[in-house]
Amino acid sequence: MKIEMISAAKGEFPLDLAITNIKLVNVFTGEIYPAAIGVYRDRIVHVTQPGETELEARAIVDGKGKYAIPGLIDTHVHIESSMVTPGAYAAAVLPHGTTTIVTDPHEIANVLGEEGIAYMIQASKGLDLRVLTFLPSCVPSAPAVETAGADFTAEVVERLIEWDDIDGLAEVMNYVGVIEQHERMRGIVEAARKAGKIAQGHAPTVRGRSLSAYLTAGIDSDHECRNGEEALEKIRAGMIVEIRESSMSFNAEAIVAHIRDKGYLPNVTLCSDDVFANDLVARGHINHVVRRVIEEGVEPVNAIRFGTLNAAERLDAKIWEPSRRDALRTSFYWRM
Ligand SMILES: [Zn+2]
Repeated sequence: MKIEMISAAKGEFPLDLAITNIKLVNVFTGEIYPAAIGVYRDRIVHVTQPGETELEARAIVDGKGKYAIPGLIDTHVHIESSMVTPGAYAAAVLPHGTTTIVTDPHEIANVLGEEGIAYMIQASKGLDLRVLTFLPSCVPSAPAVETAGADFTAEVVERLIEWDDIDGLAEVMNYVGVIEQHERMRGIVEAARKAGKIAQGHAPTVRGRSLSAYLTAGIDSDHECRNGEEALEKIRAGMIVEIRESSMSFNAEAIVAHIRDKGYLPNVTLCSDDVFANDLVARGHINHVVRRVIEEGVEPVNAIRFGTLNAAERLDAKIWEPSRRDALRTSFYWRM
């Protein structure tokens, strides 16, 4: 198969599909130019350079002069908040250009525990949407206050984080527990580190030395910035700030006010967190967040980079065995 793909890339035989007559938004160089995209089997094997002649393919799709960008990536979402199954969720977001999501099955885990997580993983297999599942870190979110359906102690997390289909530790909401070094949270974050998986953050209002403590613990992202100065402080500290536009939180305006004059920022990504099904259909998904940050003054190609390249780099650089990483790189960048 691999040899055949290489031959297809070389042009030894016609491709399966060519998408012609497009304006390619090149997220690496920031250029926009006419191009054609060549597909063989399930991979993009060639994209024409400026001035290169058209591709030979068995099927041609006319892009009608539209812009083509890499697949959009949501770096933090809870599918359950849309109150649909993963399959229905994929059907809703794919037409909006999203090809990859990082999901935290936190809601179902609070009701059904590991059985719920196993269901979400199973139901996400075989979809055209790439679903990366991170393990809920705070089940229940308020221990001793909730009557939750499960209790994910450090021992439970140590076991579940090793599952092949678990790609990271999801939003570590108990930031106080991390900063104060509570035993439970120390064990949970340590489990992710030992497994070599990303630990994703949730740190509203955490700044200064508390922020440094949270970062030093190994948690490197945040999608809870409602305040632009706080977001800028986090970006300056090298944290990955995920700009969120959900059905109830609208953070693009405040954050962009503090970053619009900073040019390209490599550590900003976009996320939707919790979106009602009707909003997904009517408003869109990450394409809506891209639009919002552009409206607030981010240069369009940079906004697209936030939703594509930056997210891919964030997920690609730090996790998984090389074979998985190869697959991610190819399809993150070039899946339509
Ligand atoms: Zn969340």
